[in-house]
Amino acid sequence: MAVKVLDADIVVIGSGFGGSLTALCARRIGLNVVLIERGGHPRFAIGESSTPLANLALRQISDRYDLPRIAPLTQYGSWRRTYPEIMRGLKRGFSYFHQVAEKPFSPRDDHANELLVAANPDDEHADTHWLRADVDHFFLKEAVSAGVSYFDQTEITTLAHGDPWQFSLNRDGEQVRFEAPFVVDASGGGGVVASALEIEDDRARLLTNSRTVYGHFTGVRRWRELYEALGGKSADHPFDCDAAALHHIFDGGWMWVLRFDNDLVSAGFVLDRKRYPIDESLDAAAEWSSWLSRFPSIQEQFAGAEPIRPIVRTGRLQRVWSRAAGRNWAMLPYTFGFLDPLHSSGIAHNLSGIERLMAILEDGRNITERLGQYERGLHAEFGLMDRIVHGCYAGFAKFKLMTTFAMHYFAGAHTSEHRRRDGRHDVHDGFLMAHDASFCRTVADHHTRVCELAGRKRLDPDDMARFLSDVAASIPEGNPAGLCDPAKRNMYEYA
Ligand SMILES: Cc1cc2nc3c(=O)[nH]c(=O)nc-3n(C[C@H](O)[C@H](O)[C@H](O)COP(=O)(O)OP(=O)(O)OC[C@H]3O[C@@H](n4cnc5c(N)ncnc54)[C@H](O)[C@@H]3O)c2cc1C
Repeated sequence: MAVKVLDADIVVIGSGFGGSLTALCARRIGLNVVLIERGGHPRFAIGESSTPLANLALRQISDRYDLPRIAPLTQYGSWRRTYPEIMRGLKRGFSYFHQVAEKPFSPRDDHANELLVAANPDDEHADTHWLRADVDHFFLKEAVSAGVSYFDQTEITTLAHGDPWQFSLNRDGEQVRFEAPFVVDASGGGGVVASALEIEDDRARLLTNSRTVYGHFTGVRRWRELYEALGGKSADHPFDCDAAALHHIFDGGWMWVLRFDNDLVSAGFVLDRKRYPIDESLDAAAEWSSWLSRFPSIQEQFAGAEPIRPIVRTGRLQRVWSRAAGRNWAMLPYTFGFLDPLHSSGIAHNLSGIERLMAILEDGRNITERLGQYERGLHAEFGLMDRIVHGCYAGFAKFKLMTTFAMHYFAGAHTSEHRRRDGRHDVHDGFLMAHDASFCRTVADHHTRVCELAGRKRLDPDDMARFLSDVAASIPEGNPAGLCDPAKRNMYEYA
C-alpha cells in the first residue's frame, strides 16, 4: 500500500462552498492548503437562498483576496451574464403569506395576511438562489485551480489533536499521512473536529425546535398567478412575489418555495416538532402530500409538481456545539451549528465566519485570543438568531405578531448592510448586530413579550398596538426602511 506524505499549513475539512472558499482564501494568503471531502462534486446540497448580507460579504471577500472570478456571483445580473451555466434564481426579497388549514388563501386589500420586504432595487442588483450542486462545484474548481491539494472520496482515518495535528487519510486504498498546524472544520453536520475533541453537544440550550420535509420539483405554479386568480392585487407588491424566498406561514410551521431560472423549485415544509412530531406511519413522500392537502392554495400551487429526487425528511434541524474554536482550530458557523432556514441567514452567516477566520489567520498575531473572540461571537450570534426564529414561530398563528417581531431580523440585517456599505463594519463585528448589546437586549425583551402575547387566547388590539410601537421605536439608525409603519401595509420597498 502506497504512503504519500504532504506539506500542509492548514487543513480544511469539507468542500461545500464554505470549505472551498476558505481553502481558496487561505491559498491566496500564501498557505499550503489541503482540502478533504468524504464525497465528491457535483453533489446535491440544501441551503440555497442568499441575502444582501451574503452578497456584501462575498464581494468583500473577493476584493480582499483578489478573487475577481468570484465577484460576478454577488449580483444576479453579473452572475447570469458571466456564468450562465451555473444555475441560480432571482431573489428580489422576502415574501410571506399566511395560510390557514383547510381554507384557500384569501387576499385582503390591506395585505394584513402578507408581508413583502424588498432586499434590493432591481433584477440587475438582486440577490440569488444558489443551485448548490453547481455553485459548490464552481468554488471547488476555483480552489483547485489556485493550488489547493484536494482529496475527494476520502476518509479521515486518524485525526489526532496536538501541535501540530496528525492526519491519516484513506483514498481508494492509498494512504496519505501528514501534519498540519491549523484545521478549519467546514464539514457542516459532519462535526469532524467536534468528535475528535469530544466537544459537548449543546443543542439542549436552543429554543427553536423544528424539522423539515423537502425536495426539488418541476411543474410548480407561480404563486402570483394563483394569488391574482384569488383576487390579490399584485400591483401593490414591491417586487414579483415569486422572485423571492417565498414563505407560506401557518400555525406550527412554514414552507419555503425558491424558484431557479430553469423553473426547478426547491420547496420544504418546516414544522414545530412539539406540535408535529414525525408520524412514523407515513414515509417522507406521504407526509409531503399530507401537508399539501391541508392547505388548498398551496396544494393548487403544487398540483402539477413532480419531485426530481426523493423527498427528504429530517429529525430536529437544530444543532450546536459548546465550542467553536481553539488554539489551532476553528469551525465555520454552519459546522458550529444550525438553527432553521427561516429568513435565510445560513449562507450569510457562514461567509461572515470565513471573513473573520481569514482575517485572524492573515494577520497572524494574538491568534488564540482572537479565536476566543470568534467563538464568543458565534455563541452570541446563535443566541440572537435563536430568539428571532423562535419568536417568529411563536407568532405564526397570529400573523401580525410574526410580522411585527420579524422586523428585528430585518432591522438587524438592514443596519448591518448599511454599515458594510458605508465602510462602518469591522470584520470582527460578526453577524447581524449580535455584537450590539443593546440590540440583543431589546430582541430578548421582545422575544419574551411575543411568546407571552402568542400564548393569549385573544390578542387585545391595544396590547398589539403597544407591541408594534415598541418594536418600531427600537429599530436602529432612524429606521430608513420605515419598518413597522402601518401606512406601508406590510409592503416594504427597498431602502
Ligand atoms: C433545510 C435547510 C435549509 C436551508 N436553507 C437555507 C437558505 O435558504 N439560505 C441560507 O442562507 N442558508 C440555508 N441553510 C444553511 C446552508 O445550508 C448552509 O449555510 C450551507 O450549506 C453551509 O455550507 P458549507 O459548505 O459550510 O457546508 P455543507 O454544504 O454542509 O458542506 C459540508 C461538506 O463537508 C463534507 N463532509 C462532511 N463530513 C465529512 C468528513 N467526515 N470528511 C470529509 N468531508 C466531510 C460533506 O460531504 C459536504 O460536502 C439551510 C440549511 C438547511 C439544513
